[in-house]
Amino acid sequence: MKTVLITGGSRGIGAAAARAFAQAGWKVAINYCRSAQAAQALAAELCAQGGQALVVPGDVAVRSQVVQMVETVRKELGDPDLLINNAGISQQALFTDLTEEDWDRMFAVHVKGAFHCCQEVLPAMIRRRSGQIINISSMWGQVGGSCEVHYSAAKAALIGFTKALAKEVGPSQVRVNCVAPGVIATEMNGHLSPADLEALREETPLEIIGAPEDVASLLVFLASDQARFITGQVIAPNGGIVI
Ligand code: NDP
Repeated sequence: MKTVLITGGSRGIGAAAARAFAQAGWKVAINYCRSAQAAQALAAELCAQGGQALVVPGDVAVRSQVVQMVETVRKELGDPDLLINNAGISQQALFTDLTEEDWDRMFAVHVKGAFHCCQEVLPAMIRRRSGQIINISSMWGQVGGSCEVHYSAAKAALIGFTKALAKEVGPSQVRVNCVAPGVIATEMNGHLSPADLEALREETPLEIIGAPEDVASLLVFLASDQARFITGQVIAPNGGIVI
């Protein structure tokens, strides 16, 4: 039975991924930062269904907390076979209004968080000559979003991160991919008005807003042996909004 560590697994896309991997027979480590209750309820749900789930707290931006998180996963569920760097925050602001603190926090969670988590899990993967990393970027990392320069830049950084790391660890049989979702109905988009959401839906060729499960099913596929020849790629479940 393989183990997946999902950062930001307490809500939204991460929670849907936890359910999908448990369904596919994986042991699931659910990381959270603030939503302890949601993470625990999700783990209880997965265990009640006969799965193995573990809740691991930690702010991915803080190295010592990531070290502790990975150590706990290793002890309780075994070395992660797959790390999904999904933890994320968003903020809408004019570029000229962004503070240095806003900028640093955005990069600390998305980019430094992925750096910390990858450094903790990769040595064992390289030794075993097997393992996978999936980084969750965004359509805004591909095309840029107005009033989200720091978010777009951090998500674009994850694309470069993915490509470079995939080249470096490919010879060790570790695959590294990036998933860049379009508009997905989660709390992250809670700030959008119904009219804004409707405009995004209309802009999407398939004319639907994505569900967290639309991303989760792609993650399960990418983690499977059916995807064994896929590495260094940016794959976009986005209804066609970016083609
Ligand atoms: P949500 O806001 O629903 O969930 C965000 C998750 O990230 C929560 O579980 C939260 O945990 C966790 N998180 C936030 N900060 C930290 C941190 N410092 N350390 C650990 N965990 C943290 O967002 P989504 O599910 O929508 O987003 C998931 C990922 O997908 C993000 O990276 C996001 O940028 C990306 N994405 C989302 C899109 C969308 O339209 N929704 C589109 C494209 C990409 P807690 O509540 O415990 O703090």
